[in-house]
Amino acid sequence: MSLTLEQVKSKSSARLKGLHPVVLAATTALIERCYARGVPIIITQGLRTIAEQDALYAQGRTKSGSVVTNAKGGTSYHNYGLAIDFALLLPDGKQVSWDLKRDGDGDKVADWTEVVREAKSLGFEWGGDFVSIKDAPHLQMTFGLTTTQLRAGAKPDETKMAIVKAKIERYMKECEDVKVDKANTVVNGEKLKEGSVLIEGRTYVPLAAIGKALGANVSFDNETKTATITTIK
Ligand SMILES: [Zn+2]
Repeated sequence: MSLTLEQVKSKSSARLKGLHPVVLAATTALIERCYARGVPIIITQGLRTIAEQDALYAQGRTKSGSVVTNAKGGTSYHNYGLAIDFALLLPDGKQVSWDLKRDGDGDKVADWTEVVREAKSLGFEWGGDFVSIKDAPHLQMTFGLTTTQLRAGAKPDETKMAIVKAKIERYMKECEDVKVDKANTVVNGEKLKEGSVLIEGRTYVPLAAIGKALGANVSFDNETKTATITTIK
């Protein structure tokens, strides 16, 4: 991928201001996890003040434009810094996509689905699971509070926050510890001296060794990090 993690993160930094600290931690972790999967994302919405929400609600009702939300000021988790909206960031680092079927990393799983899976692992609820109006870009953490309670001044309680924080930390730790097992590779009845490894169900074999065993020439260009295999015909 040509985009660096720092570049990807910088695209969203302005939208992270005012988020609840636990939601901020989860959002940062989400951006990192998705990047690691080859799915860069951008946060398109974070905290939306009640006044901003009211202005948005007026659009298509008392103001011109088309209706964009059914939530009045104070009735959205965005109003309390507890929700974010995301979109896919395309490889040019400029264009954004809301294509739920796009598979930019070519792993046969829609990028959107990958982001949602990561988000749920980090403790987010997904707007696509809402029964009333499905909201595919939307992720939120409620800490068991309704927007009515939040509007009345309720704050997420320490215990619930600690649980989510621990969940984020545990999940990020798990992702770091990629399990690597030793494996063997046999070519035409001959076991390779060089060991292979197994990572998440995939066998990784030293390329030079397997190439040689198969009678191919293998070269490596360190500059472009490109291995070239040439079979002799
Ligand atoms: Zn939203």
